[in-house]
Amino acid sequence: MPAQLIDGKALSSQVEAALKTRVDRLRSEGHIPGLCVILVGDDPASHLYVGNKEKACERLGIYSRTVRLPADATQSMLEQAVHAANDDDRIHGVLVQLPLPKHLDGSRALSLILPQKDADGIHDVNAGKLMRGENGAVACTPKGAMYMLKSAGIALSGKNAVVVGRSNIVGKPMAMLLLQENATVTICHSRTHDLAAHTRNADILVAAIGQPRFITADMVKDGAVVVDVGMNRVDGKFCGDVDFDAVREKASFITPVPGGVGKMTIAMLMSNTVEAAEKAFVRQ
Ligand code: NDP
Repeated sequence: MPAQLIDGKALSSQVEAALKTRVDRLRSEGHIPGLCVILVGDDPASHLYVGNKEKACERLGIYSRTVRLPADATQSMLEQAVHAANDDDRIHGVLVQLPLPKHLDGSRALSLILPQKDADGIHDVNAGKLMRGENGAVACTPKGAMYMLKSAGIALSGKNAVVVGRSNIVGKPMAMLLLQENATVTICHSRTHDLAAHTRNADILVAAIGQPRFITADMVKDGAVVVDVGMNRVDGKFCGDVDFDAVREKASFITPVPGGVGKMTIAMLMSNTVEAAEKAFVRQ
């Protein structure tokens, strides 16, 4: 029997509906949550993602501002944009759209965002809190993937979870979140020997690699839960890091691409922004 789909589109709509209620309440009290996105250069994929973030803000009633800097912007221009957003009381969430042009120091720019305005949940302070199991903003993509697993009722405690990919925005925080749920976690990467031996041992398999249809059916255990974070464009169409059609025949649950983790990433960005705004208004 083919795997059950974990539908990111439907789940993200549910998350947005709940967030809308919270935004409406804030607005009725005279408070408008605000998100500032800093976009450098002309990368078409980044423009598409930023457009989707702007639309989500509009749907929810969140004030949205996009600061567009040219591809040859200096480090100082980027940092000034971060400081301006930090200093602006109308803004509760700040994010720098990645990837940045190679001449810019992204880590430095991200570290300048105030941790309490870190909408992407990838600031050093928030990453450290996640590592220690303390409350803080959580990286949107893994947060969304975990939401999907929980919504599907998948038990994680004691399960073998394998995360392929060790980036700071997806792989590592995903592994930490799974660990917090008492899964036994293995992180694989490009230097892993015999990757398939690891992935075949996974009850929960998360692919965050950036290589189209890289995880094939022979790499997946019967009945595994497969979360496909990958977002690759092939012949003008999006596909994930998992060979969806073949893996679907083996897995018990699977997330589709598109309509999976990507939708949840935006919903979690909205969630982090609303949460940051609620905390800011309580502090006032
Ligand atoms: P990165 O390029 O930062 O990281 C990719 C990871 O995959 C690295 O850790 C790399 O290992 C590992 N990797 C690459 N090739 C192999 C291989 N052959 N075998 C094993 N591991 C390998 O990517 P991101 O984490 O930023 O993104 C991963 C994917 O998720 C991309 O497709 C991206 O587009 C997508 N994405 C989707 C989002 C969404 O909202 N759905 C949000 C963010 C990302 P090493 O460290 O050794 O180089």
